[in-house]
Amino acid sequence: MNAPLAMSGGARRGSLRRRPRARSPLEQSFEFPPHSVIVKRSYLPGAEFLLMELYGRPLFEGFDAWVRDNDLPRPDGPALELLQGLLAAVCTWVTFQPNDSMVAWTFALPELRYRIFVAADAGERSCVARWSPYASSGGPEHPLFHAQLRRRGAPVQQSTIDPSGTTAVGLVAEFFARSQQNPGRLFYDPREEIAQLLVAVADHDLAWLRALDGIPEGHLIPEDHLPTRRPIHDPQLLQYRCGCSSERIRKVVLSAAGDNVAAVFGNEAEVEVECPRCGRSVVLRRP
Ligand SMILES: [Zn+2]
Repeated sequence: MNAPLAMSGGARRGSLRRRPRARSPLEQSFEFPPHSVIVKRSYLPGAEFLLMELYGRPLFEGFDAWVRDNDLPRPDGPALELLQGLLAAVCTWVTFQPNDSMVAWTFALPELRYRIFVAADAGERSCVARWSPYASSGGPEHPLFHAQLRRRGAPVQQSTIDPSGTTAVGLVAEFFARSQQNPGRLFYDPREEIAQLLVAVADHDLAWLRALDGIPEGHLIPEDHLPTRRPIHDPQLLQYRCGCSSERIRKVVLSAAGDNVAAVFGNEAEVEVECPRCGRSVVLRRP
């Protein structure tokens, strides 16, 4: 949990660095929740973009702890890097949405037989990720990226694309190009574990965004390419947690089953049910 925020990149990423200094009495009394990050938001005048930035390590440690504690599968190598990049991206993206929004992205990659799910909840200030290897059959035939935006009392907005990219940066680029009205772009450095999301606001300067096209994947926006940030003094705290409980899952399952309890339990006295978001199992007893 105490991984240093300081990065080899030096001053150009200064806004995300932790500077050693005396803590005020207020800060000393505030306990930062475990596996939490602050998403810093700023407005870029002239370019007319919003910039959301986060340091992902606490969230990734949250994922690691969750899969370990619940005995869930964990990817490694490029699949883990992709999961972490998408988790960081969805957490920056959700802070651009209204406060009652829940964003969920699913990416399925048939050649490697796995699915990645990431979700973030603006109201609960939480996020979660899940990696599911396919069984020997099932799953789509082509790569698929599915995005959902839920808001209380509103129909679910969703879009599905068949992406050509298989990195977080590539997938987010295709998501913005093909299913969003505003241009946007993700920059993610997996070594520094920092994500930057740019989203256009009205009267944005598209030429300024295009000038960033030469930045190779894996790199952040060089500081000299950014107009002076105007910080939005409303930092968003997000914590890695699912929020599921056996009671909550029980309510969902039983209300979906209605009178047809046998559809869930068959002849059994109890069944094991998976949380669809985080994948952990809970045992439900027949009512
Ligand atoms: Zn869960």
